[in-house]
Amino acid sequence: MPYGTFSVCVYCGARDGNDPDYATAAEATGALFAARSWRLVYGAGDVGLMGRVARAAQAGGGPTLGVIPRHLMDLEVGKTDLDSLIVTETMHERKKVMLMNADAIVALPGGAGTLDELLEALTWRQLGLHEKPIYLLNTNDYWSILIDLLIGLTTHGFAGPELVAMLRVVPTPEALGEALAAVAPAGGRAVGPA
Ligand code: AMP
Repeated sequence: MPYGTFSVCVYCGARDGNDPDYATAAEATGALFAARSWRLVYGAGDVGLMGRVARAAQAGGGPTLGVIPRHLMDLEVGKTDLDSLIVTETMHERKKVMLMNADAIVALPGGAGTLDELLEALTWRQLGLHEKPIYLLNTNDYWSILIDLLIGLTTHGFAGPELVAMLRVVPTPEALGEALAAVAPAGGRAVGPA
């Protein structure tokens, strides 16, 4: 993958969820990345919303990087036709490699794995380990319960208001595209080899 590509790490479900709008939003996200030539960085699975984002990005000719631990290659149907595929030994390595290779982070609807990935990116940012913008694609208010929980942490004195402010909430893939376009350098920039 050439240097200079704006890269966006997407966390999302290895299942589709039970609202068809999640699948529609995932496919629209992959398509919009491809239309803007942004590189999709994701968990390399070919199942659920993960597979939908990737297939849509590929269908549009967009660049893709997948990162998957060896033991999940079968379970998550590791996609072997991505532009780049990194197979890690552990889940922790996977998360680190995904984050390292991204300029921005987006969470689509997903389950406990998505939450784990998102909260790690958020807590690492809270600790000053990175400054990458983090977006929540809030399809049909999916993430509102999490936002309420995080506001609750603040209310109870376990976080400052900056924690919630670190999350940029967007309602639709179109709004996500506009928000990312505002932070994507016109000429793109390198984040490292992949
Ligand atoms: P889920 O949101 O549970 O459908 O999972 C989405 C992705 O997160 C999948 O690729 C999972 O392999 C991954 N995942 C699940 N658990 C973890 C974890 N503890 N740490 C990192 N990633 C995880």
